[in-house]
Amino acid sequence: MKSNRVYIGLDFGATKTIAASADENGNIIEKIRENTPQKLDEGMELFKRMIREVSGGEKITAIGCATGGPLDWKTGIINFLHMPEWRDVPLKDIMEKEFDCPFYVDNDCNVAALGEIEFGEGLNYNDFIYITISTGFGAGIIKDQKIFRSSSGEHPELGHQTVHTKKLSDVICRCGATNCLESLISGYAIERHYGKHAEQLTDGEWNEIGTLLGEGLRNIIVMHTPEVIFLGGGVALGGGEKLLRTVTEVIKKQVKIVKLPEVKLTPLGYEAPLKGAVALAMKGFE
Ligand SMILES: [Zn+2]
Repeated sequence: MKSNRVYIGLDFGATKTIAASADENGNIIEKIRENTPQKLDEGMELFKRMIREVSGGEKITAIGCATGGPLDWKTGIINFLHMPEWRDVPLKDIMEKEFDCPFYVDNDCNVAALGEIEFGEGLNYNDFIYITISTGFGAGIIKDQKIFRSSSGEHPELGHQTVHTKKLSDVICRCGATNCLESLISGYAIERHYGKHAEQLTDGEWNEIGTLLGEGLRNIIVMHTPEVIFLGGGVALGGGEKLLRTVTEVIKKQVKIVKLPEVKLTPLGYEAPLKGAVALAMKGFE
């Protein structure tokens, strides 16, 4: 029986936004990518246009959205820390009025973790952690196949732990604290520290990044005991096997007291948040 269900996934990033339509099995039908406007009204118009375009004029069943910044997944009010116009935006209300269908929005790492369960390898594990290393460093924690949420609603920020570093002076993180892991190994940190993009790093420099990441994962492993850690985002996927080798060496050496989890690159690649957004549209916050 033919079904006309159309789900929309929106990966709303600080620089790029991707919209995709998917069928009831989550297969992507159409996908478009645009630069994210800094201005709020332009952004809203663009999102609506992108969603309409990928839906091909069909009635939309539900929309899922992955985004950054502090947000309230229940009310769907979002904030973008580094985009001043994008504060306290009632994205859920706006989109539900516009498209007359449910709109779900959550932290991009939580959403990518949902994508891992629906379309990747996440279904094989009860407890796992999805980590994105791109411009920043974020994580989604899955416990018993559900997103772990703190009772305050605050999203756990695993990138703002600190690790051993041989640096002589403190590095100030974008959050204002010193020597956060994010301020040492994320895309913006790499540009600041090495003066180049992650893809231009030498093997030795990747080794430095991998060592710091390994120390960070060591902390995460002993505190959360995940069965597996999936790595995604441009820096992690760019470093690839090279990065994984160093990370694995560090955690093998440093994690003695709990079972060593597998650390692997996400099988969903660069599309993890987008696929997750489709999964969120299909499943909602069940
Ligand atoms: Zn920080």
